[in-house]
Amino acid sequence: MTADKNTGPEFSELSLFEVSPALSSFLPEDFCTSNHIALLDDPSEDNTQSVRVGVLDTKDQGLLDEVQEMIGKTIEPVQLNAYEIYKALSHIYKIKIDSENRTVLLLSSSSDIDFAKDRKPNLILQDILSIALKRRASDIHIENYDEDVDLRFRIDGTLHQVTTSLSPSNIQRVIACLKIICELDHLERKKSQDGRFSAAYDDQGVSRKVDFRASIIPGNHGQEAVIRVLDPQRFILDINELGMPPNILNSYKRLINYPNGLILTTGPTSSGKTSTLYATVQSLVDRDLKIMTAEDPVEYEMEKVNQKSIDEFMNFSDYIRSFLRQNPDTILVGEIRDAETAEIVIKASTTGHLVLSSLHTRSAIGTVSRLRNLGIPDDYISDNLLGAIGQRLVRKICDECKEEQTQTDEMLSLFYAKKQSEKHYDGMGCESCSGTGYKGLVGIYELFFPNEEISTAIGNGTSVAELKNMAKEQGFVPLVENALDKVHEGITSLEEISRRIGPKFPHAK
Ligand SMILES: [Zn+2]
Repeated sequence: MTADKNTGPEFSELSLFEVSPALSSFLPEDFCTSNHIALLDDPSEDNTQSVRVGVLDTKDQGLLDEVQEMIGKTIEPVQLNAYEIYKALSHIYKIKIDSENRTVLLLSSSSDIDFAKDRKPNLILQDILSIALKRRASDIHIENYDEDVDLRFRIDGTLHQVTTSLSPSNIQRVIACLKIICELDHLERKKSQDGRFSAAYDDQGVSRKVDFRASIIPGNHGQEAVIRVLDPQRFILDINELGMPPNILNSYKRLINYPNGLILTTGPTSSGKTSTLYATVQSLVDRDLKIMTAEDPVEYEMEKVNQKSIDEFMNFSDYIRSFLRQNPDTILVGEIRDAETAEIVIKASTTGHLVLSSLHTRSAIGTVSRLRNLGIPDDYISDNLLGAIGQRLVRKICDECKEEQTQTDEMLSLFYAKKQSEKHYDGMGCESCSGTGYKGLVGIYELFFPNEEISTAIGNGTSVAELKNMAKEQGFVPLVENALDKVHEGITSLEEISRRIGPKFPHAK
């Protein structure tokens, strides 16, 4: 390659150097591509005291030391961007450049933790992702401390520490690799960045595509990353398998038969709202309905469903507006976050569409006050709200180490007004549940569906506290009751529901 200095728009830092295939014998190709590093000078020339090397991060001393040892000469690091390094490598090793030729992640359920210090960053990332999938983690947290890094997986809603020998400089290289895979600006280390990528996961010989979303933020000791795992296999797509108690399931199935109106799922983040919405859509698919969804993002692709992910150009309300011109039967809106979305959702349900969505509220009846706060008039809520599901996810006791336990009076008093005789269980911890006593998650539900009397009361502006009393009289069962049923059936423990649903709830009985 000729060094055309400063000529035209093609000029880059790289054009200052003469890289050629003659450099290929000094560093292995594999090492260079996985560490994003390119040799820029010929180390065999006698007159050179030091050798310039193109790197993403000139402060990555660990990597520089390694290269120095391989070459046997002093290293002078030159900062290049990922594209420049790739271009240099393509000259040196004659790699064909094309847009598809990017780092491909190959994940496998047979991967084991091999976090040896000298392992290449793309392979470390591959290991971390593989093991997260194998352990059914929903997200991966990489944090930096002074001399230490922290790698944790969220499994069944709880964070678990992963023991590694990774160093802070190791992990910075892994994060640099992550940013390149997400096509983010790797030189930007002062602002937070979000990205996404996909990988093929080989699960015991069967391959499936898994999507990931990455969020990278600057920390006190270097960048930190959270990677969300969007594994399609984690979704329950059969409405009968969600864990709804039979009476709630039957009523809910009746509600979703309505041709128009609004059905909401409520609960905090990670309470299984997306699973409920997807399972609901699945049960509607076979009825020859046109279903359109706006999601943040599409987490699972469903056949015969027209799905869109929101982005910086199209938000929820933009999509619903355009959906209304396409005359669908059912619309799924990931979440009602603002007044604009609330208004267009109500408009869609008024004009003959069944609209499914979610709201961040603590209870199903809380949807009424949330919609009121978003500026929806009482009579519109009364006319359109078919029902609201309130839900949480709790961990299931591991079947292999489950034992009957007596509970402390203090714990019992959180949930019961008077002594009761039902049985309680706990997991003792075994190999199968990694010593936690829990394995898998189950949904806890309540369903609020206003009858005529309650609907009229909503229209008249009746307070939520009053509506709750009315609903209870009509047979509404708060979700804490469903949780306690699942405790007595030995599905979950009292400790788990006090942690997830919280002792703030009033006594159930
Ligand atoms: Zn166990």
